[in-house]
Amino acid sequence: MDRLATVRGFLLDMDGTVYLSDRLLPGTAAFLDYTRRAGIRVLFLTNNSSRHAAHYAEKIAAMGLEVTPEQILTSGEATARYLQRRAPGSRVAVFGTPSLEEEFRQHGFTLDMKDPAYVVLGFDQTIDYAKLTLLCDLVRAGLPYIATHPDFNCPTATGFIPDIGAIIAFVEASTGRRPDAVIGKPNRPIIEMAADRLQLPVELLCMVGDRLYTDVAMGQAAPIKTVLVLSGETKPPDLAESPFQPDYVCADLAHLTARLTAAPARPDPDGGAATADRPTQRDRSADR
Ligand SMILES: [Mg+2]
Repeated sequence: MDRLATVRGFLLDMDGTVYLSDRLLPGTAAFLDYTRRAGIRVLFLTNNSSRHAAHYAEKIAAMGLEVTPEQILTSGEATARYLQRRAPGSRVAVFGTPSLEEEFRQHGFTLDMKDPAYVVLGFDQTIDYAKLTLLCDLVRAGLPYIATHPDFNCPTATGFIPDIGAIIAFVEASTGRRPDAVIGKPNRPIIEMAADRLQLPVELLCMVGDRLYTDVAMGQAAPIKTVLVLSGETKPPDLAESPFQPDYVCADLAHLTARLTAAPARPDPDGGAATADRPTQRDRSADR
């Protein structure tokens, strides 16, 4: 864990890391206490673009933790900010929830499904055949096309539901095009935005999450350390088979806090790598 001593900001995934559905996971409060006392910044980072940061702040507050909307960055807000820097005030066709539409309005865009300059695809459980057809028409016409995040499935209390990655695949099958940019984890735009928000260089950040192909994959998209927690989606056999290998593996945030606050370990001749507490060997063959 001594390699985490240089970390000045933790990016915390939410579902499967901080909570599962509506249940706070062990050690979340202690982890936030520790970071506050140690002067380490924390930003909650979610790929879910269906809700506003204020919704998550309320949800976490209801679990007894003090969190402000500014401490939360969703892929929806990150996408609105990304486009705001490139084409402020432009006409955007937003395929997403009313909350994502509102996010774009709040960032100064005009929503326009007929003659847009940009197409934005977010998580949208209300999408139907007419909407899919319009989405494909706009993408086929060659408009700049941005997706909020890449996840294929969204975990729910009753199992997986198809997420935006499945819609991206549908659009590609029809039009031959993939998004020009995907903003959420593990991609560079949301990492840079998180670094901006915390006012820290990317190198001093560490991503903590439960999903290999988004949270842990961030370690390959940026010079950022990663911690995998086993409190959510990933089980040890998944880790063994994955091209995405974290710097550390912890059972949950309680385990991570215990490791961070433990007395420095005795120097280890091999640099210390063997158990779940210790650094894993990165699979360089998978690095791009
Ligand atoms: Mg998660």
